[in-house]
Amino acid sequence: MSDKLPGGASAKASGAKPAATAAAKAGTPAKAKPDATAATAATAATSASASADLTPESLAQALDLTSDWDNPLRHPGDRRLPKIAGPSGLVIFGVTGDLARKKLMPAVYDLANRGLLPPGFSLVGFARRDWEDEDFAQIVHDSVREHARTEFREEVWQQLAEGMRFIPGDFGDDQAFKQLRAAVEELDASRGTSGNYAFYLSVPPKFFPKVVKQLKKHGLADAPAGSWRRAVIEKPFGHNLKSARELNKVLHDVFDPEQVFRIDHYLGKETVQNILALRFANQMYEPVWNRSYVDHVQITMAEDIGIGGRAGYYDGIGSARDVIQNHLLQLMALTAMEEPIAFDADSLLTEKLKVLKSVRLPEELGEHTVRGQYAEGWQGGAKVPGYLEEEGIDPASKTDTYAAVKLEVDNRRWAGVPFYLRTGKRLGRRVTEIAVVFQRAPHSPFDSTATEELGANAIVFRVQPDEGMTVRFGSKVPGTSMEIRDVSMDFAYGESFTESSPEAYERLILDVLLGDANLFPRHQEVEESWKILDPIEEYWDKHGRPAQYASGSWGPGEADEMLARDGRSWRRP
Ligand code: NAD
Repeated sequence: MSDKLPGGASAKASGAKPAATAAAKAGTPAKAKPDATAATAATAATSASASADLTPESLAQALDLTSDWDNPLRHPGDRRLPKIAGPSGLVIFGVTGDLARKKLMPAVYDLANRGLLPPGFSLVGFARRDWEDEDFAQIVHDSVREHARTEFREEVWQQLAEGMRFIPGDFGDDQAFKQLRAAVEELDASRGTSGNYAFYLSVPPKFFPKVVKQLKKHGLADAPAGSWRRAVIEKPFGHNLKSARELNKVLHDVFDPEQVFRIDHYLGKETVQNILALRFANQMYEPVWNRSYVDHVQITMAEDIGIGGRAGYYDGIGSARDVIQNHLLQLMALTAMEEPIAFDADSLLTEKLKVLKSVRLPEELGEHTVRGQYAEGWQGGAKVPGYLEEEGIDPASKTDTYAAVKLEVDNRRWAGVPFYLRTGKRLGRRVTEIAVVFQRAPHSPFDSTATEELGANAIVFRVQPDEGMTVRFGSKVPGTSMEIRDVSMDFAYGESFTESSPEAYERLILDVLLGDANLFPRHQEVEESWKILDPIEEYWDKHGRPAQYASGSWGPGEADEMLARDGRSWRRP
């Protein structure tokens, strides 16, 4: 019996209550039993611990361990069927906002359309506007039709719409939170959501603490026995180490660390997860994945758009805080980390954290970091304004729309190998890639003229938009002379697989409902990442202004000079 119920079977003696209640609170998936059974087990164990006259028989009965039958297709280790979320609901705060309408609600529909949500799945929206449930359903309908990845099917929509509720109210409004609690309880009764709820905070960051405190005050953060509650937090997670720590403290006063899911939507991308598959499921890359063969690594996230209508959010934050602190440092950690002992959240955290803790900043920050601001220019055939001319931006703003930094990872594998990270808005094109650039061959038997056109070997993970991987190497040009030039070998997701990649938010929302935390950075990673960025931001604050670069270019000349000083150059993605 004990091998069937982790932490629960020895319940009858004494140690079970903490294990079972902790599991119920955190909602971590039971290893040996799938969702529904885990919930039953947790309920039973929790109520069992409260009951004085418990016998082994009654416990076994309560835990439904009397039957020998286990559906193999529901086993968490079985990959023949996709994992489907157990009974649950999602509450979205800030549901009328941009992110909820363009990404979150379409992702929920796509999950429902793929059959990955439970039949009674419920969606509760909370925001300021005075809508009725039907208006809410109409708005979700329209956003889903416009932004969903998969085909719109009326029957899927109908089923989803039946479980939708809208709660109008301000975050300070206690009455609205009482209504929310009543709605959640009503849905438990009418739709069988079993008390399992994820609260998605798609709200301006300054409201994160307030909403979390309201959840606690109104008893929404406490899961009824046997069910789970989880909080999903959007970025930005603080604007420096101090504020991130304060936010973590507020969150952890209400939710256990395992209950908090911080969104870094890059980790939801197939190509990002593929970094680990490529490195650790194969034999041919790891032997060269180190300082003996790698010259340097370049991680680029370039956008071709400007700030759009998001001046209020962006000014004062800038590209380094918005992108390097989270997405690029996560990509760097995945590229540089050691093999985790298992593919689970704790093991991944351990290895990523080791990388982040080993990061060393250059001594001369002025020489090895660059920030810029886009100036007016031409993009996509249209004239576009500079950052300082954008609506809502202070003409004296020092906010960076481009940032490039050089980091080193001080460990045996990477000592002396620079990692160059860059991001920017209004650059040449929208692209995210990680390029591992190799050293030159130690000796060349060819004439120097034969290899004039030969660049460095490289393995490039194409994260977006053209998802896949490129290996670049030298090859003989056909003809009578020996001339060697760069060629590349491509793997494209679109060609090798018939299934299209799900949107990152689809994957991440499903993982939240499943309680799978592999793709969510933990608070330690967030804090370590701020420790890396804070000194750079402080330096920038005190020294000079961002360099200007023309919209549609590849960033300021200073960034090219920064690499040229190291005898290298940026790739043109
Ligand atoms: P938004 O400003 O468009 O929406 C904010 C939502 O919060 C709205 O529904 C608004 O009604 C609600 N709200 C604000 N103040 C409120 C109050 N006092 N009481 C009740 N409701 C209130 O913001 P967004 O762009 O949707 O972003 C949401 C979150 O997601 C933010 O944390 C943002 O940083 C993050 N994010 C957004 C994007 C994006 O593409 N939009 C990308 C990454 C992260």
